[in-house]
Amino acid sequence: MPSRARVVVVGAGFAGLTLVRALRGKPVEMTLVDRRNYHTFTPLLYQVASALLDPSEVAHPIRGIVRPIRNLEVRMAEATGVDLAGRRLLTDVEPIDYEFLVLCTGSTTNYFGIRGLAETAFGLKDLEQALALRNQVLRRFEEAAWTADPERRRMLLTFAVVGGGPTGVEFSGALSELIRGVLAKDFPSVYIRDTRILLVEAAGHLLGPFTPLLRESARRTLTRRGVEVLLEKQVRAAGEDYVELVDGERLAVGTVIWTAGVRAGDLAAALPGDRGRGGTLKVESTLQLPGHPEVFAIGDLAAVVQGGQQLPQLIPPAMQEARHVARSIHRALAGEPAEPFRYADPGMMATIGRNAGVAEIGPLRFSGFPGWILWLGFHLIQIVTFRTKLVVLVNWAWNYLFYDRPVRLLVRAAAHESQARAAPDAQLD
Ligand SMILES: Cc1cc2nc3c(=O)[nH]c(=O)nc-3n(C[C@H](O)[C@H](O)[C@H](O)COP(=O)(O)OP(=O)(O)OC[C@H]3O[C@@H](n4cnc5c(N)ncnc54)[C@H](O)[C@@H]3O)c2cc1C
Repeated sequence: MPSRARVVVVGAGFAGLTLVRALRGKPVEMTLVDRRNYHTFTPLLYQVASALLDPSEVAHPIRGIVRPIRNLEVRMAEATGVDLAGRRLLTDVEPIDYEFLVLCTGSTTNYFGIRGLAETAFGLKDLEQALALRNQVLRRFEEAAWTADPERRRMLLTFAVVGGGPTGVEFSGALSELIRGVLAKDFPSVYIRDTRILLVEAAGHLLGPFTPLLRESARRTLTRRGVEVLLEKQVRAAGEDYVELVDGERLAVGTVIWTAGVRAGDLAAALPGDRGRGGTLKVESTLQLPGHPEVFAIGDLAAVVQGGQQLPQLIPPAMQEARHVARSIHRALAGEPAEPFRYADPGMMATIGRNAGVAEIGPLRFSGFPGWILWLGFHLIQIVTFRTKLVVLVNWAWNYLFYDRPVRLLVRAAAHESQARAAPDAQLD
């Protein structure tokens, strides 16, 4: 019997998991490599950061997800480069040979070299960052409770969310609900009027990819909920207790949350070839690396251009590209050439908090309560396991009915008591 083709997939995100599912039972042997042992459902990360959901409700063990896929093995390792000539993936453990390689290592936070940002700002790109942000918000309230100086207290309780895209909008709305609905009751000695949430956006509107009507609806809703939306304001520096704007204004803030940009993950830098937006890897229309038809790059890592525009770094392109690559591998095994990829845009949506969301699906536009219901329904369906769907639904309902955020814990992660005293706040609880 001829040996089966060896397919190595790097990254168990939305693209990687879709791909290995599509190749389940096909005449290939797959190895799925990820530096983490879990997959993250990113659309709900902001709910971890705002103390609504627990990490286990947005992250799932990779081995559990792929258990039914018999022609797959999982290896936890950091991919560090590719020996294209030798057809070997290089990792921090040992190299892995491949006949087909699919790179889908996603993106990471882009600080654009802005002074002080990488050192002091909080990101919202992965589970560790979401937990660190949750801890920071809770810690700032604890500190404020001890602070007699009103100016310092106001600084501690001012949160600047930079970036008015879906993540910035969703987190600002959720933070406002956490503070007004829950922390205001937890901290009776802290005046709610001392807290400020600033949403800082360089463009003249929020939610760039949406239609003007929906952008304006999101801005009005956030403003009504106490978020100060600062448009046409660009950040040029940040520190522990301030953020500085390009026009010279300096705002005293206790926490800067940066949601204003992503770039391709570090693996992209280790590969040759042209680059797209944010250092993404330029690929052929077939999603193959130029000059290397056996290597594909997809998802947030890849610059896939259609109609002169690079596709957005979103889940639908990542998943559609993955299905296309599965078909291409199948075709290659039958001796047929790969076909160009065509993206079918399913629309987009964002939530602003309780009873408020925006959605664009084809020619249809939704805002307010209908937009919110659509967002909830769509994301509930997408959640990976049935157990998690149920738990998330219960948490959402609990929060909706009782204005309660169950996971307001500041936990320190340490193996020994001596470490516990020295350790920073928990990465996981
Ligand atoms: C807070 C947030 C909210 C979002 N909300 C939405 C939304 O509502 N709708 C939407 O469409 N999109 C949303 N996105 C964007 C969406 O998450 C990405 O477009 C999508 O995850 C891209 O899929 P991917 O498979 O390319 O990368 P990812 O899903 O990021 O997966 C990459 C995987 O590669 C692994 N990895 C990275 N580097 C290495 C390495 N060197 N070696 C080994 N493994 C590695 C990572 O651990 C990860 O498992 C959101 C993103 C964020 C950060």
